[in-house]
Amino acid sequence: MWDEDDIVIVSALEHYSYCPRQCGLILLEEVFDENVYTLRGKHSHEAVHTPSTINQHGVRIERALPIWSDRLGISGIADAVEFHSDGRVYPVEWKFSARRRHRHDNIQLCAQALCLEEMLGIPVPRGAVYSRQSGRRREVQFTPQLRHETEAVIQEIRNMLRTKQLPPPVNDERCPNCSLIDACQPEALEASIRKYRPDSVFSISPPFPPESSKPLKQTKEDDDCTESF
Ligand code: SF4
Repeated sequence: MWDEDDIVIVSALEHYSYCPRQCGLILLEEVFDENVYTLRGKHSHEAVHTPSTINQHGVRIERALPIWSDRLGISGIADAVEFHSDGRVYPVEWKFSARRRHRHDNIQLCAQALCLEEMLGIPVPRGAVYSRQSGRRREVQFTPQLRHETEAVIQEIRNMLRTKQLPPPVNDERCPNCSLIDACQPEALEASIRKYRPDSVFSISPPFPPESSKPLKQTKEDDDCTESF
């Protein structure tokens, strides 16, 4: 159904919704670099990177579970999926810290839910992001809006893969924490793009930043963190 080159990996949704250029640098330019945040992230995933099955308080937990959606053309690995005795299926994404900005985590988790719904033929209305640092989890509801946003991000990534066009830099408060800042050079690039805005006779008209590249807004939900793992 999908060309192999059109398959979007689920983890790319987090990168793209954080910064489309970051995702482009990884997928198109094969750039990857570590900083303290990526190293912490790696460390926090160690416990869930080996496929295993455990039973905890009557809940079967599958770790490092392969997931996919033929409809959406996505595939990946879910950190942990809980199978409850009442039939509920509940994906749990592991992160190092409880981040203030949740949008990209929510989108990645929602993509996992969409895969599980298609694979198992049952609704998956909720999941959680678990913070290894705090030992707490934040529940995420897969609302129609989040599902729509997730599918839109998948399509934007696929368009980027097809056109092989690297998105422009966001050059905002996301950059200082980004491990790819040296490869990206956001300030220098934005200055050069500004120089060639469409009002210039010699414009190169850089592509408009997609919706996903807009700065993230802080919401009340961003300060909520509920439930212990
Ligand atoms: S440095 Fe900024 S613009 Fe560049 S990839 Fe990272 S977040 Fe995006």
